[in-house]
Amino acid sequence: MTSAPPEPTSAADATPEKRDFIRQIVRDDLASGKHAAVRTRFPPEPNGYLHIGHAKAICLDFGIAAEFGGRCNLRFDDTNPAREDPEFVAAIQDDVRWLGFDWAELRHASDYFEVYYLAAEKLIRNGQAFVCDLSAEEVRAYRGSLTEPGRNSPFRDRGVDENLDLFRRMRAGEFPDGARTLRAKIDMASGNINLRDPALYRIKHVEHQNTGDAWPIYPMYDFAHALGDAIEGITHSLCTLEFEDHRPLYDWCVAQVDLAGDPELLRPLRARGLPDEAGAPRQIEFSRLNINYTVMSKRKLTQLVADGLVDGWDDPRMYTLQGLRRRGYTPAALRLLVDRVGVSKQNSVIDFSVLEGCLREDLDAHAPRRMAVIDPLKLVLTNLAEGHEERLAFANHPKDEGFGSREVPFSRELWIEREDFAEVPPKGWKRLVPGGEVRLRGAGIARVDEVVKDADGRVVELRGRLDPESRPGMEGANRKVKGTIHWLSAAHAVAAEIRLYDRLFSVEKPDDESDGRGYRDHLNPDSRRSVRGWVEPAAAQAAPEQSFQFERLGYFVADRRDHRADAPVFNRSVTLRDTWAARA
Ligand code: ATP
Ligand code: MG
Repeated sequence: MTSAPPEPTSAADATPEKRDFIRQIVRDDLASGKHAAVRTRFPPEPNGYLHIGHAKAICLDFGIAAEFGGRCNLRFDDTNPAREDPEFVAAIQDDVRWLGFDWAELRHASDYFEVYYLAAEKLIRNGQAFVCDLSAEEVRAYRGSLTEPGRNSPFRDRGVDENLDLFRRMRAGEFPDGARTLRAKIDMASGNINLRDPALYRIKHVEHQNTGDAWPIYPMYDFAHALGDAIEGITHSLCTLEFEDHRPLYDWCVAQVDLAGDPELLRPLRARGLPDEAGAPRQIEFSRLNINYTVMSKRKLTQLVADGLVDGWDDPRMYTLQGLRRRGYTPAALRLLVDRVGVSKQNSVIDFSVLEGCLREDLDAHAPRRMAVIDPLKLVLTNLAEGHEERLAFANHPKDEGFGSREVPFSRELWIEREDFAEVPPKGWKRLVPGGEVRLRGAGIARVDEVVKDADGRVVELRGRLDPESRPGMEGANRKVKGTIHWLSAAHAVAAEIRLYDRLFSVEKPDDESDGRGYRDHLNPDSRRSVRGWVEPAAAQAAPEQSFQFERLGYFVADRRDHRADAPVFNRSVTLRDTWAARA
């Protein structure tokens, strides 16, 4: 079991001041005067939908800026044109706003292509970059390994003029894809392979979603990312641990290009009206959010959609933010999760129940209560007159009067949950049995006198009586019975489609391929079941995306695509209790 308990730095319990190592660095930098204000950025690559892991990065980048009175940019890292799409650009903005954040400025790495280009020429002129004609395969062979140093490229000692000429011709589109690269001249013997003359530019004749066919060359991630941070005056550049080994290259790019000391390089931005505020950013790495029973990479999530294993990006079983949202996850629940798992450099896997617990906690406090019946069985109260009808007042929330109350219709024929009746009760049974009594929540005590069955022996109806002395306000209203069940007036209930979702994967590590199987082989066959049930009128009237606790059943949300008042559709967001812990 790899699950980790929440870290002690957790600030979930409404402690106003969060104390983790990143916030401590920021606090120190502000106190020492190193920075007058904090500036961060969230830099997604628009090559897929954001997933729950990104929620951690978003909450840190935007959250820290907000807490310290700073600013956070949303920057699309669009330096890899072949995989990027405006659909993703729009969805990412939507997701960030949904999580409760807004950006100071919206930028694209591609806004800076001219600056990157000037920076590359500067490195060439300073003898710190060269055009290399080795093929990708040769570059790999020259690179060496973890135990062996690399070898210098035969093109490493090209003169500045030749390098400048070749680079300009790369930019002019004279050479085919892959023919040449621009490489930094650092150290082929470095123990850090990222410093062994890494590529800064590659040739790619591909149309770009933002710049069209203006550029046949594109900057590499490390170069573009470091300079993008410097251009925007980012003070603390937060990223995940896999970039730790890239930090020396990040620092090299920032220092050697020195945008802050060379404002001429920012000229193309000024011409475009973008403010220039270059600085020297510091990269700080934190551990990724990992959660068991999930896959959390854009590539794998994309594959699930492409293979038709889920119904699109916002399938409520997906771990995309769009999927979680449609499932009924709330921004507050996800922010609570991020606080609860804390910030550190220790990689760990969070148990799925922690995520579900955060949602329960938020919805318990904020979701009004309603009644619904998923698997209906008719109960006829024969001592009420035909056509008997009344409206009972129900509080919308047991712990918070601020939620007000509503009227729930009550009548002679009710729907109750089939599983609340047992002809032959198991030991400890507290609900309905033939001849037994149960409390109908808020309405009184009912007993079953007769069990009606069809030809196959299946129970189709219960007939019984309501004890008039047990009605609300009567003397016997508090008479003790063992069980309380929920119900709906059959004449007033609204038929609803109820989608019972569960975890998409049935194993803790769906992407562990060590047994030769992949995540496709670990899909939970019971991850979705759709049933026809009934809901009370006040639930049918829900706005799309409104959440309720359906009493005794769980938390449900009105589906944001399909729900209509006359044809309600509810998604189960989470059960009332963790049913997986017992299975394991
Ligand atoms: P994936 O590997 O799923 O494709 P990515 O890291 O390539 O994700 P980016 O668009 O590059 O996705 O990520 C934007 C930011 O989100 C980066 O700073 C990255 O470190 C962060 N991020 C991505 N996944 C996680 C995660 N699981 N936990 C925390 N932060 C993450
Ligand atoms: Mg990435």
